[in-house]
Amino acid sequence: MTAKSNPVTKGSKSRILLFNTMGRKLEKFVPIEKGVVRMYSCGPTVYSYPHMGNMFAYIFVDLLRRTLEYNKYRVISVRNITDVGHLTSQADAGEDKMEREAQKEHKTAYEIAKFYEDAFFRYCDALNCLRPAVSPRATEHINEMVSLVGELERKGYTYRIDDGIYYDSSKFRDYGALTGMNFEQLNHYLIFGERVETVPGKKHVTDFALWKFSPKDAKRQMEWDSPWGVGFPGWHIECSAMSMKYLGETFDIHTGGVDHIPIHHTNEIAQSEGATGKKFVNYWMHNEFVLVDGKKMAKSAGNFFTLDDLLKKGYAWRDIRYLLISVHYRSQPNITDRSLEGARGAVKRLSDFITRLGNAESMKPDDKEAKRAIKEAKDSFIRSINTDLNMPEALKAVFMMVNTVNKLIDRKGLSKRGAKAVLKALLSFDSVLGLRLDEFADMAKGRLDPVVEKLIKLRKEARKNGNYALADEIRKRLKDEYGIEVEDTGNGEVIKRA
Ligand SMILES: [Zn+2]
Repeated sequence: MTAKSNPVTKGSKSRILLFNTMGRKLEKFVPIEKGVVRMYSCGPTVYSYPHMGNMFAYIFVDLLRRTLEYNKYRVISVRNITDVGHLTSQADAGEDKMEREAQKEHKTAYEIAKFYEDAFFRYCDALNCLRPAVSPRATEHINEMVSLVGELERKGYTYRIDDGIYYDSSKFRDYGALTGMNFEQLNHYLIFGERVETVPGKKHVTDFALWKFSPKDAKRQMEWDSPWGVGFPGWHIECSAMSMKYLGETFDIHTGGVDHIPIHHTNEIAQSEGATGKKFVNYWMHNEFVLVDGKKMAKSAGNFFTLDDLLKKGYAWRDIRYLLISVHYRSQPNITDRSLEGARGAVKRLSDFITRLGNAESMKPDDKEAKRAIKEAKDSFIRSINTDLNMPEALKAVFMMVNTVNKLIDRKGLSKRGAKAVLKALLSFDSVLGLRLDEFADMAKGRLDPVVEKLIKLRKEARKNGNYALADEIRKRLKDEYGIEVEDTGNGEVIKRA
């Protein structure tokens, strides 16, 4: 459902409060251009499958965008693809993640990038995250990065060492403002707190590479000519160059994980504002880490999950999405079998409720109570999402309506019109939740995709003819491609949405 056809917000634009990491407080959201939001999100480094922590960041971005669209803003969203320059250390030491993976997998760095970029989009689509308007690749914006580094050089922010062109962070006023620390505190924190590896010749630990030179003794797969020598861009300059290219020198919202605050985003600000002399971003928003069984997810801890891992365990995409949207983006979702089961239960309650609405009928319909329940839920839902995406409260509002209407149906039923109004409200909430509840409504009405219907018929015939191998193959295809589960029972087949 688009925001335009959204029945709930027609005519009214409520106040939206967002938590701005810059200043660390809730602020009323006011876009630069009336009715339009320009937002940039740090995208994936495409050298491996995204893990669930990465996906939580993109679910957060999706909820933010859907919330803004629910409030009738036109959102122009950009999310980059980092396919070069991200080193194994957050700072400037270590190897390029892409080149390292290419060696490991005996492929070219470009093949690695394409493969994992495709996987990334597949994961986002599977969780029903809206695609951004633009997904620029770093390797296709080298010219923009080189000219930005050139501008910083002209303004006196850079110095050269053996390893590359570096940004002198001591020259930027307010360096580190996003962290709430001053220059000395942040340097101290990076050395003793984060223990970042440093590069010989750097003047301060907070200085960072704008352009790294290719090694003298080895040829890189991804390298370009520049006024300073053959090499490749630093990770941070990519986001400054691409965000400003597509959104302008100053734009509304920039998102990322909390781990980006002390280095990556702090450096994006220093580069962009150093070059333009203008404020870079008005609202900085950061999502938290994901926990698995109560512990921070890490490859070394053996609790590192991808979306495929969870799907293979038998959870449906809706269960996983529900779990990730049910936690506030500034707290840490805990992925456990129990929390996933809980999410599955909540999705089932919604699907059962929609089926029940389809069957609701009464001789003495009294829709007043239903109308009141809808109004209360809508008010609370909008207030919640517009208060820094308070999804736990928003979901509470949804279930408050579900419970009230369920009781109403138990007591005296509901007219067809009343049921329709409740469903309409639920589907409008779903334009933010993104659970594709309309598919449950279609199922309740017995409407199926014609291709799905044909496949079900073919499967039935195959079974009748004893061709069980074909029947199983069709069953698998229905599940994998269409999310439809077919169960054979004593009373014939039962069709369910997986
Ligand atoms: Zn970035």
